Amino acid sequence: MAAKQQPAPSDAVKQIHFLAAALKAPRIVEAAGRLADQARDAGWTHEDYLAAVLEREVSARNASGAAQRIRWAGFPARKTLDDFDWDHQPAVRQQVAALASGAFLVEARNVVLLGPPGTGKTHLATALGVTAAHHGHRVLFATAVDWVARLQDAHRLGKLPAELARLRRYGLIIIDEVGYLPFEQDAANLVFQLVSSRYEHASLVLTSNLPFSAWGGVFGDQAVAAAMIDRIVHHADVLTLKGASYRLRNRGIDTLPSIRAGIDQPDN
Ligand code: ADP
Ligand code: MG
Repeated sequence: MAAKQQPAPSDAVKQIHFLAAALKAPRIVEAAGRLADQARDAGWTHEDYLAAVLEREVSARNASGAAQRIRWAGFPARKTLDDFDWDHQPAVRQQVAALASGAFLVEARNVVLLGPPGTGKTHLATALGVTAAHHGHRVLFATAVDWVARLQDAHRLGKLPAELARLRRYGLIIIDEVGYLPFEQDAANLVFQLVSSRYEHASLVLTSNLPFSAWGGVFGDQAVAAAMIDRIVHHADVLTLKGASYRLRNRGIDTLPSIRAGIDQPDN
């Protein structure tokens, strides 16, 4: 039987280099070479081999996509669930573990993290954002004050509806530090519009050092605050963090009477 003319291996490898570059998938070259030996040794089918090479490329792309989404999210610092010391917040461990599956993002549910300063609200909000990026969602993080500034800019330019529509394409928006500063009425209305535009479409994570009962004071208007809280918590997990500031741990400061008063709370 006349053997069909095959390209010499080196030609095939050169061709793989060329084709991988044309596909903008340079990692295929490395995977193809490395897996070819493994495939020959293990007697893989051609289909097994092709699937393995493509799988390497897809997982590398997903990982670099996540890294890019994390870079673009605007987190104040890189924090993950793995860095979190659950001994300080044992009561929310199960709830956060369930959220880490990312199901809340698919269901457009919200997460509200409440608690005193230094209890890990921003850390957990960031870590949930990082998880969301790994699950393929685009994420944007900013403080409530920064969100207001951004929405005011869009409003001034007559582009608020376009901006809200653009933001809806993000699977997760994090609004950190609701309540550190009170808002003027027009600012409160802009936050309300952001919350409304995402209601049942896409998720929000909010953090606040104030209980919901004090949000009326933040938004300057009980009716606006009530309508906003209603939309936020309709589909939401509310996590209450407790205890002393993690920033002050091991500093002896938590033994001061004024701070101890705030931390003598049960964990559950
Ligand atoms: P908050 O937003 O509630 O004021 P942060 O999330 O900013 O608090 O936490 C303050 C600092 O302490 C951050 O550096 C954060 O990473 C760290 N931190 C807080 N709680 C924990 C924890 N349980 N485990 C590990 N680090 C924590
Ligand atoms: Mg914070």
